[in-house]
Order: sequence, then C-alpha cells, then structure tokens
Amino acid sequence: MTWGELLKQGQERLKKAGIQEYELDAWYLFEQAFSMSRARYFLDAKEEAAPEAPALKAYENGLERRSGRVPLQHILGTQEFMGMEFFVNAHVLIPRQDTETLVETVLNEQKNRNISVLDMCTGSGCIAVSLKALGGYARVAAADISSEALEVAEKNAGTYPVEFRQSDMFAAFEPGRDMFDVIVSNPPYIPSEVIRGLEPEVRDHEPLGALDGKEDGLYFYRILAEQCGDFLNQGGSVYFETGHDQGAAVKTLLESHGFQDTKVIKDLAGMDRVVRGTWPGQIRK
Ligand code: GLN
Repeated sequence: MTWGELLKQGQERLKKAGIQEYELDAWYLFEQAFSMSRARYFLDAKEEAAPEAPALKAYENGLERRSGRVPLQHILGTQEFMGMEFFVNAHVLIPRQDTETLVETVLNEQKNRNISVLDMCTGSGCIAVSLKALGGYARVAAADISSEALEVAEKNAGTYPVEFRQSDMFAAFEPGRDMFDVIVSNPPYIPSEVIRGLEPEVRDHEPLGALDGKEDGLYFYRILAEQCGDFLNQGGSVYFETGHDQGAAVKTLLESHGFQDTKVIKDLAGMDRVVRGTWPGQIRK
C-alpha cells in the first residue's frame, strides 16, 4: 500500500462514520502519526508506505477514536487560537474561533499596556494567555472553578506570567483588594435544554460545566453583571463573549447594573458575539 492509499483509507473510514470534515481530519491524524509534512507527502504519496508499527497503531487508534466522535483536538492534544498553539484535554472547552472576537476587541480597545486584566472562567487559558502574549498587559490574572482546567491553563501559559486562582466566580476574590481595569469572560452560556441537541463531540466530550448556562443560559452573566463592579477600578471595562442570540439580553443586564458605553460586537460570521461595558465607579446599592 502507498502512503496515498493509507491516507485515503483513513478518509474513507471517517466518511463512513459520518464525520463531516473527514478529509481534513484524516489528514491531521495522518500528519501527526507519521510526522508527515505536506511537502513530503507530495513527494511520497505514490511510494510504498513503510510506517513504523507504533506510528501505524497511533494512526489506527486516532481514526478509531475520531470515528467514535471524539473531538479531533482531543486526539491531537492541541488547538490553534490567535496564532498560538494551546494544549487541550477533556477538562477544558476547546478554544473556538468565535472567541478570537473577544480577544481582538480587547486588544483594539485597550491600548494602554499598563493595566490589570482578569479572565473569569479561563478554562484552557486561551483568552488570558493570548491577552498577555499579544496585549502585553502589565498584569493578567485568570480564575476558574476547576483545578483540572487550571492545570491545563498553567501549562498553556508556559513562561508568560499569568496569575491563576481557583475560584467559583468571585468567591476567592476580595473587593477593594483584588481590583482590575478590565474583566473578560467567556462563561458557560448554553441553555441546559439546548445541550442535549449539540453535536456528540461537544455534548459527550467537552466539559458540561464549561457549557451549561442553566435555564436561559444567562446564569453566569447575572453574576458577572452584579459583581464585576466590586472588582473594577473606576472607568474599568468588561468584555463578555455571548451566544449569538444573547447580545441584547446581556447588554440590558449590564445597563441595569450601572454599566455605561455598552455595545454588542459581532463575530466574523456577523453574529452577536461580544458585549462590552464600562464601569463608571459610582457607589452602588
Ligand atoms: N461557543 C461554545 C459552543 O457553542 C460555547 C461556549 C460557552 O458556553 N462559553 O459550543
């Protein structure tokens, strides 16, 4: 069998299993298992394949798992986000392209590097780490309820100095002491009812706790809208990722808690994706 046939065989197997992106997915599994570059493949596609036994086993194993609807990123172990490579496993949400809109909005609006930023519900750490790496902000902190997620996020931070803290929302933060100029969050926002209808890759393999926004999906935005003001310096801002149909509701929620300059920002697909607001810093309650 040639290398080309070996790849083709994998593609056919994934196609039969109903995997939509079967050609691309099989290529990535092939590429990783055989350390095969595109260039080498073009030269060797018609050559007799001479894979090492462990590599062949890894390829077979990858195809088997992908056929069982395990996300490709869990098999490969990584996902690209903002041009950087992030380690992922079943304890964190796989970074989505949609979320780049959140990071880009912050980078565009927050030009002063001498600020402190908190990423609440950090998961893989992709938002916090890319803000530190690309925004160069003086202080970046990140929190998550899950210690397993924080292990992944710490690994992803590598040598970037991000302060991680295990916390159920702001439970481990103290108003007046833990203050920030910017708070960002991509909280769980899928309504519980909707989760059952998601693709098996998401529903069965990604952490439910990172997806489930309870009854109407807005549970965590209510906490954020209510509590962010306690941890924001005067004139500080919030940026939240939202579901495509939640922009208006989250904007209203922020306004009802005193946030100003609120705005809904669309993603590349033209869907509502990010809501921002500014904290005027008046005494509340
Ligand atoms: N955008 C993700 C999805 O559709 C959900 C992200 C979230 O709940 N924060 O799967």
